Amino acid sequence: MSDPLARLARQASETHVVVAGGGIAGLVAARECAKVGLRVTVLEASEAFGGVVRSAEVGGLTLDVGAESFATRGGVVRTLLDELGLADAVVSPNPAGAWVAGVPGVGAAPLPKGGVLGIPDNPFAPDVRRIIGWSGTWRAYLDRLRPPLTIGHQRSLGTLVRTRMGARVLDRLVAPVTSGVYSARPDDIDVDLAAPGLNAALTRTGSLSGAVAEMRLSRADAKPADAPASDVPVADGRKAPAPGGAVQGIAGGMSRLVDALVAQLLELGVELHTEASVDALEPNGTGWRVVISGDAEPLDAEAVIVALPEGPARALLAPVVPALEVGDPVAPVVEVVTLVLDAPVLDAAPRGTGVLTVPGSHVAKALTHSTAKWDWVRDATGPGVHVVRVSFGAQGEEPATADLDDDAAAHLALSEAAAMFGVELPASTLRAARRVRYVQSQPAATIGRAAETAAARGAVHAVAGLGVTGAWVAGTGLAQVIPDARAEADRVRSAALWHH
Ligand SMILES: Cc1cc2nc3c(=O)[nH]c(=O)nc-3n(C[C@H](O)[C@H](O)[C@H](O)COP(=O)(O)OP(=O)(O)OC[C@H]3O[C@@H](n4cnc5c(N)ncnc54)[C@H](O)[C@@H]3O)c2cc1C
Repeated sequence: MSDPLARLARQASETHVVVAGGGIAGLVAARECAKVGLRVTVLEASEAFGGVVRSAEVGGLTLDVGAESFATRGGVVRTLLDELGLADAVVSPNPAGAWVAGVPGVGAAPLPKGGVLGIPDNPFAPDVRRIIGWSGTWRAYLDRLRPPLTIGHQRSLGTLVRTRMGARVLDRLVAPVTSGVYSARPDDIDVDLAAPGLNAALTRTGSLSGAVAEMRLSRADAKPADAPASDVPVADGRKAPAPGGAVQGIAGGMSRLVDALVAQLLELGVELHTEASVDALEPNGTGWRVVISGDAEPLDAEAVIVALPEGPARALLAPVVPALEVGDPVAPVVEVVTLVLDAPVLDAAPRGTGVLTVPGSHVAKALTHSTAKWDWVRDATGPGVHVVRVSFGAQGEEPATADLDDDAAAHLALSEAAAMFGVELPASTLRAARRVRYVQSQPAATIGRAAETAAARGAVHAVAGLGVTGAWVAGTGLAQVIPDARAEADRVRSAALWHH
């Protein structure tokens, strides 16, 4: 007579789960499966784990060159950091907030505090008026006089803002934010996903600015469908009652999360492989045969969790998932150039924690002044030396750096940084640079996207022994990706254990 617990443990250890992709989603999913004793293997195509969460050495400093913060909402990232023993390393950014640059006739100005997606609650506030001018302010004020929408509600953020508050609020305040946060135009953003509750508040309060004011008060409840989708200085202040409250970081860099996850997976006995690209899945009777590129032996598994970016995920799954299309997603490409500069002129942090640009006004999309934003980066560099991340590419446009070699990309980033900071940054200030290219998925908050990814996920779930997670189905940002990976792993592991 065997002990039921011992039987369950044996059964778990005989159940093999392969996780394809070693980004945050894959690592978190692997951890959930290993926790209950399943045999787990992670296969990562590149030479390192972490995916978009990665660090690199630039000018002798170890810096985040991908994600650099996490949204605090829901406390989900924080819970994981606590579990991994990183609680003491959690830090808040400088609350100074970001600026917007490229405002016609104005240049650069601090982004007004207290808006929702850049929509102001009071068009007469001096910081708002500085950016939209008196004519923009009076146009925005019409919002208070117009009747609220009576039939249904407006889905497109761009249409909503344009009709109620006019083009200046849209172009100068809202578009820089959506471009920075979502790499998308306001017209393509679904209001209900990006700012849940805004439409309802508009109906209740009778105006868009009134709705924004009401949401500010209840902001703690607002859960946008996306966290920062790219290099987003504005995320500091846009989504929380107090600027600086909405995101946090890790002293030493977000890549410490990856290191801690990998260390824990090794302790749990997970097999971790880099330079192991998953090429195909084939049914093998009881589960899946996982075909790996190169000479590696295929692996047999009862279940496979696919934690890849959208393109590779669809390519891998489509042959075995009826109703899933390979698809041709129009994926926004972003390039982030991290610069280390000898530039005492930046000690004064002339643009707060960073800059967003009015689309079309600059070649670059945004800039994060890391030494102004994070104390740990400033402490690592010392006075006079600055870390600046310049990001390129948005809204279906190739990044301006795409065809340049690394050196030329660094110099373009430097001249764009000078323009955004409004200071001279001669070539002699450039100490080191690092350019990284990222292919993102369409933001979850674009119109029609949620239905599309839900359909894809439904199709995958209809096939036994398969799971899918990652930013393309979960929504961009660690606060979306981590809970989704946990939930998907839970679903897969339960099914795998029941199956046996
Ligand atoms: C520039 C940039 C900055 C960002 N900044 C922030 C931020 O500050 N805060 C925040 O919360 N979010 C940020 N995000 C978003 C966030 O980083 C991502 O949503 C999240 O890291 C995605 O994790 P993932 O595991 O789904 O995907 P990925 O990190 O893309 O991981 C997928 C992994 O799969 C691997 N892979 C691909 N094909 C195969 C294959 N065939 N076989 C095996 N492995 C394969 C890849 O090499 C990769 O390691 C940022 C995104 C970008 C692009």
